[in-house]
Amino acid sequence: MNRRLFIRNSLLAGGALALGPRMYANGLNFADWKIHPIRKDVYLFTERGGSIVFLRNKTGTVVVDSQFPEQAGHLIGELKKTAPVPFDLLINTHHHGDHSGGNIAFKGQVKQVLAHINSKINQENQAKAQQSEDKQLYPDLTFSDKWCVDFGKEKICAHYFGPGHTNGDALIHFENANIVHMGDLLANKRYPYIDRGAGASMENWMLILDRAQNVFDRKTLFVCGHGRDANDVIVNRDYLREMKFFFESIFDHVKKEIVAGKTKEQIIATPAIPMMESWVDPNSFVKPLLETAYHELTIPA
Ligand SMILES: [Zn+2]
Repeated sequence: MNRRLFIRNSLLAGGALALGPRMYANGLNFADWKIHPIRKDVYLFTERGGSIVFLRNKTGTVVVDSQFPEQAGHLIGELKKTAPVPFDLLINTHHHGDHSGGNIAFKGQVKQVLAHINSKINQENQAKAQQSEDKQLYPDLTFSDKWCVDFGKEKICAHYFGPGHTNGDALIHFENANIVHMGDLLANKRYPYIDRGAGASMENWMLILDRAQNVFDRKTLFVCGHGRDANDVIVNRDYLREMKFFFESIFDHVKKEIVAGKTKEQIIATPAIPMMESWVDPNSFVKPLLETAYHELTIPA
């Protein structure tokens, strides 16, 4: 790797490592890709889809999540400018297309792909259902509870704390840099999607947020899968409490509505979660969140 060139590039665009060419998406809007240094040898890539985090050190390159094929291609193209064989490991935080759809761009260019065992199954099921198996690069390495690797001066650990956003969410910790990619277990003031069809659990999602506060520390930087905008995705440990409060507010609201005698249809028609006015919901995820809370509160014990 030509580290000097890589760092010099990081001084471009006021701290952003590099700024992509303006790309016309959907014929109307344009989007820029950006690479921001986070800490030590760990960087954030943003364009369209879930946040990508990558490590580049003297040992090589590890990438966490892949957005979509076009976006992954932008990242690969940039990284190839400074290292001929750039990819040792690709990790997926979970199977959703905006986090793993770009895996295919790494085909033949990455040594291994890691994900939680349930995430791999979900990715296979999703591809079969969409008849898009030829557009996938599946994980060839899986774990169930915890998986770690020493990578030069960095140690990377993948943790699984049970079902949350899906039943296969991995938390990826770069221990030396002390950065965790939380995948879609964290969204910065943006309503998250909850994928009941893929085994999600709102109740356990709150326990995951508690556990992450104990396992990681006050200096840890947490990368959210999404934010109010693509670049607004890095938070500290205090934010995990706020995310938990979001789910508590949903449960509290649904409980009150059930006690008040409202029907399921009336409850899931609530347009926004009370107390959460500063959060945005551009994809109308409020309904599946309310439905999940209703389901979890009313299923027989
Ligand atoms: Zn997701």
